[in-house]
Amino acid sequence: MLTRSALIWLSRHEGLKDFATSFSVFKKLTTRFVAGETIEEAVRFIREINADGCSATFDHLNESVGSVGEAEREVSEYLDILAKIDDSHINSNVSIKLTQFGLGLDPELAYRNARRVVEEAHRRGNFVRVDMEDSNVTQVTIDIFKRLRSEFGLNEVGIVLQSYLRRTYSDAQELLKLPARIRICKGAYNEPPDVAFPIKKDVDDNYIRVMRLLLSSGTYHGIATHDPHMIDATISFANREGIGKDKFEFQMLFGIRRDLQRQLARDGYNLRVYVPYGKHWYPYFMRRLAERPANVWFVLKNVLKG
Ligand SMILES: Cc1cc2nc3c(=O)[nH]c(=O)nc-3n(C[C@H](O)[C@H](O)[C@H](O)COP(=O)(O)OP(=O)(O)OC[C@H]3O[C@@H](n4cnc5c(N)ncnc54)[C@H](O)[C@@H]3O)c2cc1C
Repeated sequence: MLTRSALIWLSRHEGLKDFATSFSVFKKLTTRFVAGETIEEAVRFIREINADGCSATFDHLNESVGSVGEAEREVSEYLDILAKIDDSHINSNVSIKLTQFGLGLDPELAYRNARRVVEEAHRRGNFVRVDMEDSNVTQVTIDIFKRLRSEFGLNEVGIVLQSYLRRTYSDAQELLKLPARIRICKGAYNEPPDVAFPIKKDVDDNYIRVMRLLLSSGTYHGIATHDPHMIDATISFANREGIGKDKFEFQMLFGIRRDLQRQLARDGYNLRVYVPYGKHWYPYFMRRLAERPANVWFVLKNVLKG
């Protein structure tokens, strides 16, 4: 049986990536989690999501780019996305990854590239969320975010924290002083036990601690999870503390628990769906399999069916 960490390890395997992305049979399987290859395909899904009363966040799939030129193409793609959101009148913001903008080549390049996207979002009255990647880049991601936040408004740029990291509660306390809009999620990478809680219960307990801290802060945050226990804990805490439904949003991934997404929207909660698209789907797709190894059987069955 493939374990979570084996699947995450495979997500970083360049040879497998090239193999998987060159066969259309694999590409077809990604439709469960990926909204197509082009902006237009993603817009079509976002219209449906909006029609269900949910907002969206665009994610152009790519990470750890290998050249300045590739990072530049990512910036152009995001400038196009921001224009497309306005032109097609859809309700969406954008999520970016700093390694997609060249963090692995030069942090200053990633900062400048991210800044260009945030500046365009500012011009258009939109919002950019800086996703969080593995723990090698946590500190530099926070540092770059703080620079961006010092130049742009609370409602123009936000960040993500991961409850599996031991440092996250204190990062949240620090970031709330700015203040900052934070998305809390559990975390999707392989991390060593000195950095991240190895036991799920500790990750969940920390999630609830951080969620309470965020909701109590009065700033608008994103509670990103499909876990019914985390959702119930959020709703109970908000009810107990008299925190209105409009003071935070739940966030979920495209293709996961659509039923729950619709239910929460019907119950009057703000619900945002993270909509990834693009050709570089491999690492994202593998992380989704890792979250629920039962998904591997779904994929294998479909490969065998041809
Ligand atoms: C909007 C959003 C943005 C995110 N951004 C980041 C980020 O920037 N950085 C980062 O490290 N991680 C990010 N993640 C991923 C996150 O860290 C988790 O890996 C992921 O959300 C699974 O955790 P969970 O809270 O849903 O709980 P889990 O305990 O993993 O899952 C709870 C239940 O949700 C369902 N479920 C969860 N995952 C799947 C799946 N793949 N397929 C089918 N069912 C599933 C299952 O029913 C499962 O029992 C993001 C997640 C969301 C929703």
